[in-house]
Amino acid sequence: MTTVATFRCGYAAIVGEPNVGKSTLLNAVLRQKLSIVARKPQTTRQRVLGILSTDEAQVIFLDTPGLISPKYLLQEEMLKHAEGALTDADVVVVLTDVSRSAELPAEVLQRISPLKARKPLILVLNKVDKVYKPTVLPMIDRFAKLELFQEIIPLSALKRDNLEAFVRSVEQALPVHPPLYPTDIISEQPERFFVAEFVREKIFEQFREEIPYSTAVDIREFREQKDKKKTFISADIIVERDSQKGILIGSGGESLKRVGSEARRDIERFLERAVYLELTVKVREHWRDDEHALKALGYRAE
Ligand code: GDP
Ligand code: MG
Repeated sequence: MTTVATFRCGYAAIVGEPNVGKSTLLNAVLRQKLSIVARKPQTTRQRVLGILSTDEAQVIFLDTPGLISPKYLLQEEMLKHAEGALTDADVVVVLTDVSRSAELPAEVLQRISPLKARKPLILVLNKVDKVYKPTVLPMIDRFAKLELFQEIIPLSALKRDNLEAFVRSVEQALPVHPPLYPTDIISEQPERFFVAEFVREKIFEQFREEIPYSTAVDIREFREQKDKKKTFISADIIVERDSQKGILIGSGGESLKRVGSEARRDIERFLERAVYLELTVKVREHWRDDEHALKALGYRAE
């Protein structure tokens, strides 16, 4: 049974600075929106696991929050999630946005350099669609001089350019191991996690400045209704201050309605069924620095 003896399986952590396209890459590879994406940095707060199964391999991708210097407890927890993923991973995929910089920042280098002796590191140069093509090869040469990476792969997660080469490299870098998950599932987080994330994404899209960063979403109820065809979902949107609550609701409830209707569209597509979504805005002062609140919201890294 040669197929069994050569099957590869393991964890691949996707790490890098905020906003380089980590979540976009995960979604592109899995062909499903699993991890929320936004123009703003620091959207992803936890590890998001995405499982890609083929005949030859099973890659368990861990999307992570960006590697940053934390300023509040939530950011500390976010960083712990990213560092935990680095520890657990069999392969580390380091992502960089070539349209922004041709170098890796200290926050990233400092965390990945010590791993070189222990596990394969793959560098992905993302957003090549945004740069003049002839600049890519010299960039690859420059990164190769760091002598950190087993492979350097230029791609565009957004345009789905060169994704196959990326997946093949990750698969080849994994240990020979039977699959760890059933081959027909693509994630292990419960549906309610994704529902909360879709609501959070709309807040990231529709509000400015500190609002998205001060917001959490807590699913209170999630039930199938026997008589009705719709799934009933009730969620609290938690903010830090009264003034933020007012902005989120908007005059006549307009803003909150827009969040709800756009989130509902994504949730229905994800769950493949009709949904009734009820949103309530609540104030919980300083929740981002409150250990209990972070734990209740599922943001504590073990
Ligand atoms: P993360 O913070 O690293 O997870 O980054 P996201 O996946 O949330 O993406 C940040 C922004 O970069 C979003 O606006 C994406 O649409 C954009 N983006 C991601 N990948 C690409 C790419 O390959 N090309 C371009 N032009 N934009 C991209
Ligand atoms: Mg992300």
